Amino acid sequence: MSARDILIQEFGKTDHLSMDKDALTGLEYDIYTTEAGPNLLVKRKGEFDMPWMVQKESAVSLKSFMKALPEMSTEALQAMKSEINEIVFSPVGNPNDRATSKRIGRIFTSAASIDMKKRQVHIWPKSKESDSKRLAQTLTHETGHAVDDGRNRLAILYTEKLREFWSTQPNIPTDPASRRAVEEAHGIPAHPNVWRTEDEEEPVSLYARTNDFEYYAEAYLYYQEGRLSEKHAMFRHFRDLERTRRWVADWVAPREEVPWAAD
Ligand SMILES: [Zn+2]
Repeated sequence: MSARDILIQEFGKTDHLSMDKDALTGLEYDIYTTEAGPNLLVKRKGEFDMPWMVQKESAVSLKSFMKALPEMSTEALQAMKSEINEIVFSPVGNPNDRATSKRIGRIFTSAASIDMKKRQVHIWPKSKESDSKRLAQTLTHETGHAVDDGRNRLAILYTEKLREFWSTQPNIPTDPASRRAVEEAHGIPAHPNVWRTEDEEEPVSLYARTNDFEYYAEAYLYYQEGRLSEKHAMFRHFRDLERTRRWVADWVAPREEVPWAAD
């Protein structure tokens, strides 16, 4: 399948929206909207491009990106399309690499990064060294960060709905295990924050040891690749997440009809 076929199959109709400057790299990009979700930002080929200036060609090509998509799991690819707003194909390296290198005391060049608030992914030129499989892993890892952010928001709603549940119960057991048993008997799925509070499991990779964010994103990657043991707390977490989402969604829906509710 050609890159163009993959683009159409995975992202549907694409349209050139406009050009805009990206805050992190300070460069102007062509913005393409996609039917599937994320906008794709590609470096604009300037009218007077000079060989010593950044070129569209300095970035990971849309073609390499498309070829990596079939290497992702269906679930991760779907999550990337629904959870990520923008994917920027940057022809220059991550401006934050210097600070990161300084902090960790060795030269660090990022392959990709995400602004979790904006749900914006940058794919850096370092990823040009990656084959399709490696790029797919990078994209799955960044998607893991977006899923983590979604989980965080979910946890807030979950806690509210759970509080409402307990307010209708005549007795509230004092020990957490008994409370959880009552919740389970009422079909209430696991708390989306359980991965962090209850189990102290081994990080799946060296990079996962960096912090909680990387722990989560790396576990997500291993889970999507089928490399996470079923016994690992994160395996249960990712498996249950969809059920938790549905449980909360049932409750949130009527509230969205309030006219002043936003985002
Ligand atoms: Zn990461």
